[in-house]
Amino acid sequence: MLIAYNNQQQLFLPYQYTRKALQRYRRQMKFYCPQCLEQVQLKIGNYNIPHFAHFTKNQCSQLFAEGESKIHLQGKVQLYEWLQKHGHQVKLEPYLKEVSQRPDLLVTLDKEQFAVEFQCSTISHEKWHQRTMGYERNDIQAIWLFQTPQGKEAVNGIRKIRISPLLQKAFITTTDLPYLLTYNPVTAQFVYWTNLLHVHGHTFIGKVQKISVDLQHFPFYRPQRITPEEFQRYWQLYKQTCRQFAHSRLLHSKKGAQDPFLRNCYELNLSLTALPPYIGIPVKEGAAIPLFTSEWQIMLFYFSKQLGRLPFELTKGQMENFLCKHQLEVTEQALRAIQNYGYLLKRMHHEDGLLDNCEQVYVHLFAIATIY
Ligand SMILES: [Zn+2]
Repeated sequence: MLIAYNNQQQLFLPYQYTRKALQRYRRQMKFYCPQCLEQVQLKIGNYNIPHFAHFTKNQCSQLFAEGESKIHLQGKVQLYEWLQKHGHQVKLEPYLKEVSQRPDLLVTLDKEQFAVEFQCSTISHEKWHQRTMGYERNDIQAIWLFQTPQGKEAVNGIRKIRISPLLQKAFITTTDLPYLLTYNPVTAQFVYWTNLLHVHGHTFIGKVQKISVDLQHFPFYRPQRITPEEFQRYWQLYKQTCRQFAHSRLLHSKKGAQDPFLRNCYELNLSLTALPPYIGIPVKEGAAIPLFTSEWQIMLFYFSKQLGRLPFELTKGQMENFLCKHQLEVTEQALRAIQNYGYLLKRMHHEDGLLDNCEQVYVHLFAIATIY
């Protein structure tokens, strides 16, 4: 933790002093945890930012993130100073009695309160949920800012990105396609992954944009939707990934003829290397079905054909049967994904030639009223 009471009952922020001054204070003062009020030790190593730690592990050190990494402390200090510099009312690690929680930062803006949690380590879903609920019950908006994962994902541009299930929970879904905002203390940059389009499993296509902490605004900037021109790049990447998938499935399928995807393809008389344009269409809420769209859409066609129907003629019960048959989780979201696909198919069927598929999908994903 970065802050503690000294013996004059004042909040003391060691990172603002030189190490030499801190060594003197350590001899002169005692420090107390703002939460449990137990005495804490001031740590002044050369590697980490000066901070406090409990002498022994207690209930409090479990509630509050102890053994905080250098990167976590660094990020907290940077975000704290950035908010202060912009004239915001901000508290560092305040203990909120009513919630028994201690967010990294608490920002008050026009009577609204925001708890900012800068998260560098993995956190269990239960803990995340519990803390978020604690804030929300007290009319505090929880903002989870995760540390930017290291690697090539931090390069600007439109690219394929693998996103861990934990980070997927931090998706911000107020825009057409969800986005994720992370912070990198090493470069003092916010990294946006925007317009995230689900491909399969934990793989997405997204636009990566970085913004230096000095240029960020609070509440954080909201990203813009990509343009139809940018979506062309998404489409290329998407189609390429689907082709690679079909190719590798064909090469490596151990189930052989038992593989429902390959079998359905064969039954429908479709060539895996040249799938028709209406197969492999990204749809809204498609992330609810973890398979490639080309995979579940072929199986859906086959399933419908056996019933003598087209995919957009299926009843809700039939869609549920379809999901069950392929061991896919039956959720409202998954059902809507199938409905969305049916809706797009119908449009492509009737309005063939007016818009190409890429444009159709763009319109669908961004719910723009089409003008003719
Ligand atoms: Zn404590």
